Amino acid sequence: MEKKQKYTLTRIIVAAVMLAVVLALPSGVGATGAAGVAGAWWISRKLWVALAAYLIVGGDVVGKAIKNILHGEIFDENFLMVVATVGAIAIGEYPEAVAVMLFYQIGELLEDMAVEKSRKSISSLMDIRPDYANLEAEDGSMQRVAPESVAIGSTIVVKPGEKVPLDGVVIEGRSSLNTTALTGESLPRDVSKDDKIISGCINLSGLLKIRTASTFGESTVSKILDLVQNSDNGKSGKEKFITRFAKWYTPIVCGAAVLLAVIPPLFFGAEWTEWIRRALTFLVISCPCALVISVPLSFFAGIGGASRHGILIKGSNYLEGLANSDVIVFDKTGTLTKGTFEVTAVHPQVISEARLLEMAALAESFSSHPIAISLRKAYGKVIDSSRITEVEEIAGCGISATVDGTDKVYVGNDKLMDKVGCGWHQCHKEGTLIHVALNQEYAGHIVISDVVKPQAAEAIRALKAEGVRKTVMLTGDRKAVGENVASELGIDEVRTELLPADKVAEMRRLCGEMKPEGESESKGALAFVGDGINDAPVLKYADVGIAMGALGSDAAIEAADVVLMDDNPLKIAKAIGISRKTLKIVNENIWFAIGVKVAIMILGALGIANMWLAVFADVGVALLCILNSLRAMR
Ligand code: ADP
Ligand code: MG
Repeated sequence: MEKKQKYTLTRIIVAAVMLAVVLALPSGVGATGAAGVAGAWWISRKLWVALAAYLIVGGDVVGKAIKNILHGEIFDENFLMVVATVGAIAIGEYPEAVAVMLFYQIGELLEDMAVEKSRKSISSLMDIRPDYANLEAEDGSMQRVAPESVAIGSTIVVKPGEKVPLDGVVIEGRSSLNTTALTGESLPRDVSKDDKIISGCINLSGLLKIRTASTFGESTVSKILDLVQNSDNGKSGKEKFITRFAKWYTPIVCGAAVLLAVIPPLFFGAEWTEWIRRALTFLVISCPCALVISVPLSFFAGIGGASRHGILIKGSNYLEGLANSDVIVFDKTGTLTKGTFEVTAVHPQVISEARLLEMAALAESFSSHPIAISLRKAYGKVIDSSRITEVEEIAGCGISATVDGTDKVYVGNDKLMDKVGCGWHQCHKEGTLIHVALNQEYAGHIVISDVVKPQAAEAIRALKAEGVRKTVMLTGDRKAVGENVASELGIDEVRTELLPADKVAEMRRLCGEMKPEGESESKGALAFVGDGINDAPVLKYADVGIAMGALGSDAAIEAADVVLMDDNPLKIAKAIGISRKTLKIVNENIWFAIGVKVAIMILGALGIANMWLAVFADVGVALLCILNSLRAMR
């Protein structure tokens, strides 16, 4: 329990004891027979104890109400509570006034604890923050230091059982890593020399020496922790609805209470105190705490539940978007396919096969595109990066670079060759064609082919089962390749040979299609799933941008609204499932709370429900809603 909560609890206990005293004191004028003076003394003593208890437990609520009034925001839950309780004191119902505040505070405390609990369980699930790094000095001695103090390019040692504290590259050793906390994936990942390694994983078996590639603040682990901590920033439509609702609801309820207090006595000669009491009871019942509390809490719990599966959702608005996704657009390379291309043929024109591959690999030596990585792997030799200058990546087309200061190399697709004005020719082999131009002359092509991810077909089926209406694939790759993949996976629509700008245009078209005739807002949401490599504009354009395999890709973590830590496409359906469940819980809470409220409000107006019942109903509903919210976590 936090300090603040302990303080609240103490206040609640003190006020509860005092309330018991108030209830134990003899009541009423003339309770002591003829001694009218003594009766008055008892009453005032009762009043003083009650007032003290009231201020102890509700002083902050009164303070908040006054502060809000001064800021011109009169109608909120604090205002309702204060009006109702001050009114109760005015008509002589001291214990009730104290009790209302007392239970209200108990409700607030429970809410606070529930939020804290879900926050804690999120951060323990995301138990990835490293405590230290073993820094190796130049003389080979080792020193335990704070991860924040390690500079880029330092050598650190990670022993079996330890967390990897910083992103880097393995320079010595081999081991397998547990990435469960990051990805929700239980299979360990093997690493050896020259492999990239990401902070937050746990080293399972061997001793690893790592050259750090980022500072702690820039490392994956910090970025993810940041993201988790700020994930409740974006407000969902449902939460905005609650805020709007409270804005209208509170004044309406206050007005109704005034009418309830005034009309029957004024026009029908009813008793004033009785109707004022009913009006006050009505006010207490009307307090919308259960809604105000449980809706954000449900979203928070849903986001927490998702993070257990390695799905990071950046805000409840995106969770809502996921739940409403109607059309899902996929990038091909790295998203539905593995993005690890095998070189299936090398067809040189004027130079040797080895030279063609070398030129391609050299030009690609700085690119993180899956094609670039595959070409470097096929080349297989260590690249001396000082040989390459003037690198320019042309998104959706390829790359250009100068090798050894003299040779201008272009590596890419048909579009790039046309741009350079270099003649090229087709290949009889199936696959993605990567042309190479050397000093404006066609040097030949390399045929590479990608394989679809093993879970991709099932992922598309799972999305259909979740009720997604349409799946679309957009790719910069050749028509034949794209259409093959789409039909293999059962994707509804496919567009090929697109540049990044064309992809945005396609998104705009799909968005337009989703809108019903004559309306400007579409009902469902448009989601885009990419691997984060050159699809930042599309990720931004979509209602919900999902980046997968984002572990280690900073750009993707930043541009996307939803980040899937590993590259398993099945997680998309999982994310949508979790979001739908969360939204269902939110709706349950809204209707349950409003239903119970309205019923008891009517009973209150009829004089059947008294203030005690009102208080119990309020706390009870809030508690049930909180418990229901926490289900979203599981
Ligand atoms: P996708 O839409 O499948 O993710 P991209 O938009 O990244 O593909 O790229 C589209 C096409 O552009 C690729 O199929 C390839 O032909 C070419 N291309 C892009 N980047 C590179 C690169 N670094 N090297 C070679 N070719 C590239
Ligand atoms: Mg791509």
